[in-house]
Amino acid sequence: MPPQQDSYDASPSSVRPLLDTFWSSSGWREPPDWPDEQSMRAAVRRGVMFDAPVVLDHGGWVEAARSAAAQISPREVEDAFVSSLTSRRLDLRSALASFLIARALPDHHFTAMRSGRMCAVCGLYSGSAPEDLNVLNFERFKWGGIRRDDITYVAFDLQQFIRAPRREVTPDDRKLGSAVLEILRGLPTETTVAQAPSHLGLLKGNKPERSVLMDILGICGVLDTADHRGYAEGFVRFGDRELPPYRFVDRAYPACWWQASTGINFRAVKNVLPTLS
Ligand SMILES: [Zn+2]
Ligand SMILES: [Zn+2]
Repeated sequence: MPPQQDSYDASPSSVRPLLDTFWSSSGWREPPDWPDEQSMRAAVRRGVMFDAPVVLDHGGWVEAARSAAAQISPREVEDAFVSSLTSRRLDLRSALASFLIARALPDHHFTAMRSGRMCAVCGLYSGSAPEDLNVLNFERFKWGGIRRDDITYVAFDLQQFIRAPRREVTPDDRKLGSAVLEILRGLPTETTVAQAPSHLGLLKGNKPERSVLMDILGICGVLDTADHRGYAEGFVRFGDRELPPYRFVDRAYPACWWQASTGINFRAVKNVLPTLS
């Protein structure tokens, strides 16, 4: 594999072939429609696609997540998150949640759950399987990530964030960030987390993107509940990430538990998004 480039080209035209590989106007492409060899090579050169899968075991992914987080400051991910709200740079929006998870992730050995084959601490399997980074990067650019607390995604997301072209945060970005929190705070009390995104029309982007924003704010603890905490003050073990008992749980833990009557967790805002508090 050639050495990883220092950065990537996040422009819409650069990312387009990645999006088109996995997504069409009617949804997921199954199987993916891979670019021809020449476009693939060009996308790899731009740093947005990957020509070989990564094979790591449980310990390898845990180490990758923890060491990426150690190279990143809280202020960097906060700024990236805030600047994503006006720019719709979803690759920058994703990193805040991944950072909080990886920073809190304890160094640990695979710890089998009583049932199932996943690690009770982090949710990874014990073995190693080839991981296609392209689909992870697609989800990252398309929605800001959808495998919110999957340590494989978390590690990949942070490795990409380290080389991500950043944007300067403007006063308009901060104004918009504060406005989003203000709207969430003021929602009618019966509003569910599934309904909240339709109140965020001031944000550029579509409903799935705004729904993923709920997931990210959940991980931050901004949209958590007293019984189901986010990660800002400590790691939540995989075995403790309870999901509600309804049939369709679209949102990640702990945002899935949130509703407007819970209110915004201002301690978490102060902790994780201090420039918006
Ligand atoms: Zn584990
Ligand atoms: Zn519970």
